[in-house]
Amino acid sequence: MEKVECIVVGGGLAGLVAAYGLAREGVEVMVLERGNYAGAKNVTGGRLYMRPLRRIYPELWDDMPFERPVARELITMLGDGAATTVELASERLSGPSPQSYTIQRAKLDQWLADKATAAGAMVVTDMKADELLRDGERVIGVRAGGDEVGAEVTIIAEGVLGLLSGGAGLREQPRAADHAVGFKEIIELPPGVIEDRWRLNEGEGAAQLFMGDVTRGMTGGGFLYTNRASIALGVVVSMEQMRTRSDELESWELLDAFKEAAQIKPLVRGGELAEYSAHAVFEGGIDKLPRSYGAGYLLAGEAAGFALNALVTVRGMDLAIASGWAAARAALAARAAGDSSAAALAVYERFLRETFVMRAMEAGRGVPRAIENRRLFSEYPGAVARLLEGFFAVDDESSATLVRTSLRGARREFLKIDTLKDLWSLRKV
Ligand SMILES: Cc1cc2nc3c(=O)[nH]c(=O)nc-3n(C[C@H](O)[C@H](O)[C@H](O)COP(=O)(O)OP(=O)(O)OC[C@H]3O[C@@H](n4cnc5c(N)ncnc54)[C@H](O)[C@@H]3O)c2cc1C
Repeated sequence: MEKVECIVVGGGLAGLVAAYGLAREGVEVMVLERGNYAGAKNVTGGRLYMRPLRRIYPELWDDMPFERPVARELITMLGDGAATTVELASERLSGPSPQSYTIQRAKLDQWLADKATAAGAMVVTDMKADELLRDGERVIGVRAGGDEVGAEVTIIAEGVLGLLSGGAGLREQPRAADHAVGFKEIIELPPGVIEDRWRLNEGEGAAQLFMGDVTRGMTGGGFLYTNRASIALGVVVSMEQMRTRSDELESWELLDAFKEAAQIKPLVRGGELAEYSAHAVFEGGIDKLPRSYGAGYLLAGEAAGFALNALVTVRGMDLAIASGWAAARAALAARAAGDSSAAALAVYERFLRETFVMRAMEAGRGVPRAIENRRLFSEYPGAVARLLEGFFAVDDESSATLVRTSLRGARREFLKIDTLKDLWSLRKV
């Protein structure tokens, strides 16, 4: 059997960062990626939170192929025929060290693959790992394309569904209830049109999240990110709820209807469809994480369950990068000790805790339960709009003061026992 020191399964963000971290220390590392180039099969909404990452391999990020720094944040609630938007434009969002950037995976992953290759990693594309090779409990390599390749440590960074690791019993098989499914289009628009539509200075970007009618009462939401010369528009919904509605609703209908909604149509007008994709995303939270290490292997990125949807922030890419970094450190420690047993690789958990990964997952502990509450997606967007419409109304009854109008509206829409319960349940989000 051919042997290398380390195999990485998956040339996504987690796998490529792990490979880069190992190769720059002189480790012989091979990445197996089933797509015909890194990023070919990878889908994201499109925003990477950078601030937590700057300390990880700082030499990497300066020439990263970002699209735009996000300078304007918008949250739009769609309901009862209305759209209510909360908008924040702040110099502190962008400035010299922007909080987040929009990105495109096809470009970003190839760029990272080039960095890993330049550091000495071997990135093999068009190569699916078919099976993990075992010696008892220990993972000793992979079978891919009819060949067997052995390794001291295999880093499994295969992404959300974890079919390889699940098949080998290293984690549970995926359940629809712990996942959402996202549909996304890339729509090309000239840069100037994007800047005018979202009122941006040249080169700046916007991130707009949507709740309410876009998911037809199901848990989830919509997103819109501005790239340099395109926008990424998509819908993410609970996989389980989508499945129970499959008789009456085709999944692609949600995105088509979203694009046609009166409030969205002007945003996409004149755009050319360039790409369509669909992908799962993990939403099980910290309580559903598998054990991320064992004899001869580590799980990194979304294969280890590191993804968070906390309503106003969707994160997975920064967690993938940081866990890839921690996996490389753990494999290096095992190499230095000449020991890749489960006990030696357990150091990975400590490295993960030292990053923001486990703190972020811990902070999101209450999210999966809170977002099960469908009222958040079906009732409140309309209620907020009705309350505000009271402020702007001019008719025969509009003689009430602003305070009376607010109180009357709040009593009608929000002073209900269910709302108070919902607020209480959201305190942990
Ligand atoms: C619609 C949607 C919107 C999202 N929006 C955001 C967002 O705005 N911001 C954010 O931070 N996160 C977002 N996420 C989550 C984020 O995209 C993921 O968490 C992140 O991409 C996970 O990275 P990864 O490296 O772990 O896995 P992936 O990027 O999925 O990479 C896994 C790689 O492994 C390869 N692979 C799988 N199996 C094999 C095999 N057997 N052999 C060889 N190769 C294999 C795949 O081809 C892929 O290249 C979103 C996700 C979705 C679906």
